Amino acid sequence: MVSMPEKNLRVLLSSIKPRLHDEQFVFCSVLEREFKKLTIQPICMFREAEGVSLIVAKSDADSASLKYDGTWSLITCEVNSDLNAVGFIAAMSKMISDAGISVNTVSAFHHDHLFVPSDRVEEVMLLLQEPPQKPVPKRDPIDNIRELIPMIFSEHRAHKALGSLLSQGHALITSKFGEPLPPDMRIFYERCSDVKIFDRYSILSLQKAIDVDRSQLPRSWFPFCELPSGGLIAIDLSEPNGVYPIIDLDCGDFDYIVIALSFTEFLDKILAHGQDSNYWIDHSEQYGTAKVHLKNSQVRKKYEEYWDLLGPENGSQRCMADACENKNVKLSVFCRQHQFEQVHKVPCPFTSDAPADTLAEYVLKE
Ligand SMILES: [Zn+2]
Repeated sequence: MVSMPEKNLRVLLSSIKPRLHDEQFVFCSVLEREFKKLTIQPICMFREAEGVSLIVAKSDADSASLKYDGTWSLITCEVNSDLNAVGFIAAMSKMISDAGISVNTVSAFHHDHLFVPSDRVEEVMLLLQEPPQKPVPKRDPIDNIRELIPMIFSEHRAHKALGSLLSQGHALITSKFGEPLPPDMRIFYERCSDVKIFDRYSILSLQKAIDVDRSQLPRSWFPFCELPSGGLIAIDLSEPNGVYPIIDLDCGDFDYIVIALSFTEFLDKILAHGQDSNYWIDHSEQYGTAKVHLKNSQVRKKYEEYWDLLGPENGSQRCMADACENKNVKLSVFCRQHQFEQVHKVPCPFTSDAPADTLAEYVLKE
């Protein structure tokens, strides 16, 4: 992706006129033969081997009984000057996804267009008019949890921890997560419970944290903090590479961002940066990524529908993949497994072994 200095982005943003369309849109996928029967006019279409992707007005999709997930609003970026369109649209969509909002971009001949979830379009319009300032810490870093805790009690909301629940809680964590809490987190939970920082970060009580649905997370990931969006922050208790990665589960789909290397560092940074935005929207504050590989049974569940759709290998040709002896499936020039892997870019969970346990793979900056 082309990167663009923040200052330039501001200048460029000041030269666009974002125009919000009244109509709502949806994304659909139909088979070629279904597409031929449609009488509606999509605003955008793309043909792939496995079907035709359409962006259509929601009202049209409803009248044609097409299936779709969410509804999207369309923002057209009318630009006043000649711009490096590629870098510009990339920078804009990064700014929107950094705010935790999904965005689909379409570059047409005359303009760039953004599709964003309809329930968040107002936030996006605000962002385009006023991009976020880079967050700046308001003091020097503190690396001692014992100095941070009094600040939480004096300036934020916290309850005193109940000692009797604590030893039970710790035993439960070790049995559920396979690892104990790190020392700084133990000190924190021995003193406070149900902490709310800046009305923005809810640090969950041990009991609430244990009850979070973790079916799609590695066993040692302990989700301990909730964001206003409902998104969660987790810590990996297995101490990979000698650190305790703090992971933002709110952005990315199984490909998450590492935003601190210890609980104390995370706590210090949210306290020091104030309430306006998450400090890690500044990319220099990110340590890298944590990619989650779901265990086989979950991968299968996720792709079941697509696998069924591919159907049997009863085509008339040999699969186009090198040295594959299988016949093609009817929607593709590939066999079932190779078609699956072409589309989803993961080893096919129906023919090969995905991991037996959900695992994390870290790529951290040096
Ligand atoms: Zn094949």
